[in-house]
Amino acid sequence: MSAYAEKPLPPSLYAETAMPPPDLGPIAGEARATVAVIGGGITGLSTALHLAERGVDVLLLEAHQPGWGASGRNGGHVNPGLKPEPDEVEQHFGELGRRMVRLSYGAPEALFRLVERYQIRCEARQAGTLRAATTQKTLAGLRALAAQYEARGLQATLLDPDAAFAATGTRRYRGILRDPSGGSVNPLGYARGLAGAALAAGARIHAASPAVSLARTAAGGWRIETPQSAVQADRLVIGTNGYTDDLWPGLRRTVVPLWSGITATEPLPQSIADQIMPGGGVLYELGSVTVYYRLDVGRRLLMGGRCGLHEMAGPEGFGYLQRYATKLWPALRHVAWTHGWNGQLGMTADHYPHLHEPEPDVLIALGYNGRGVALATAMGAIIARRIGGEAEETLDMPITGIRPIPFHGLWPLAVQGRIAWGRLRDRMGL
Ligand SMILES: Cc1cc2nc3c(=O)[nH]c(=O)nc-3n(C[C@H](O)[C@H](O)[C@H](O)COP(=O)(O)OP(=O)(O)OC[C@H]3O[C@@H](n4cnc5c(N)ncnc54)[C@H](O)[C@@H]3O)c2cc1C
Repeated sequence: MSAYAEKPLPPSLYAETAMPPPDLGPIAGEARATVAVIGGGITGLSTALHLAERGVDVLLLEAHQPGWGASGRNGGHVNPGLKPEPDEVEQHFGELGRRMVRLSYGAPEALFRLVERYQIRCEARQAGTLRAATTQKTLAGLRALAAQYEARGLQATLLDPDAAFAATGTRRYRGILRDPSGGSVNPLGYARGLAGAALAAGARIHAASPAVSLARTAAGGWRIETPQSAVQADRLVIGTNGYTDDLWPGLRRTVVPLWSGITATEPLPQSIADQIMPGGGVLYELGSVTVYYRLDVGRRLLMGGRCGLHEMAGPEGFGYLQRYATKLWPALRHVAWTHGWNGQLGMTADHYPHLHEPEPDVLIALGYNGRGVALATAMGAIIARRIGGEAEETLDMPITGIRPIPFHGLWPLAVQGRIAWGRLRDRMGL
């Protein structure tokens, strides 16, 4: 086994609660495939599943195990939309923008139907996404977004402060926009379920198999080397997001691999759980420094937000989020925080997910800006359509060039500065 095989899953709650992983080993010897996919997160797994559904011979290489990256560590929020709002997307992209809006706002519904179709055991609950405003400014933004929903016939309800209190058990919010199409999954269970569905559809998936080099073959395809083997493939897909290395020139510098962390409580007494989001669903705040949370099926509160810029394990390093939660719901004072973990997600400079085709037989997708659960699932389907022969003009995402971010190496400094500035702004109610 290579050194990569030993890199364990982070000690997240999901490592204890998700369905067991499929039995996968490292690739050995020489192999051939029509399409080789690098990265076993939602992007890679959804691509493999959608290709296998079309009868394409696909082989996926994952450095650790499916869901090891952000896909198995995230908040489990299945959120609609892109980071830029619909009006802005349509201004930027015109008719394509309208399709991008439709795709991204329809992505949660597509995910929940996929879970149903493959009977994926991942605690899926379509109980809504709540976007919460903590300031006058974010409330104005929320109202504007509600108008954009209405103009497009998308469903959402704007909750006033009393309704927001009833929905969350805290008086913190000046308003909430509730989109019923969102919801939650156990993300590691979802990733493993996608892997299981892809395997059943005929895909080959290898864990502990990092791609360490890429080269053109004399026949015009690709040779991908892992520490113990080599794969020859006609086409290549890369879905490595916040864990992107230097395999493809310049790609690592196109995303900021931002850290986000989650801390979870013990199962809450029913009386406390009943106060917090009695309608279920998932919530994220629209402050300058994002906080997001939900209750899981075991009545644990999962609070997510900023964290240290390094791997963290255990609840101790998440005092900020725990204190914040206790401010929202003082009843949490005597509750134990049992878990804490974090991971890296891909942020892009323009806040859009990126789909690249640097060569006619290579597709790369990354940079979901914290919305990859639904969007990376949708991206996998788009990649399969493109490989199936669809014209670029008919895809619901633009294919763009690989553009490294200037001064990329300075991102940790920029992030720390932004967090400090954002917290100050939030405190001042700006
Ligand atoms: C703490 C946290 C909370 C989040 N919360 C949410 C949320 O609630 N909702 C939401 O929509 N999004 C959320 N996100 C973002 C979301 O998790 C990501 O957008 C999504 O998982 C991206 O999936 P991916 O497959 O592109 O990348 P990843 O899941 O990161 O997968 C990339 C994979 O590539 C593998 N890899 C890298 N290099 C190689 C190589 N050379 N060879 C083989 N394999 C390689 C890695 O091992 C990894 O498994 C969160 C992210 C984090 C970290």
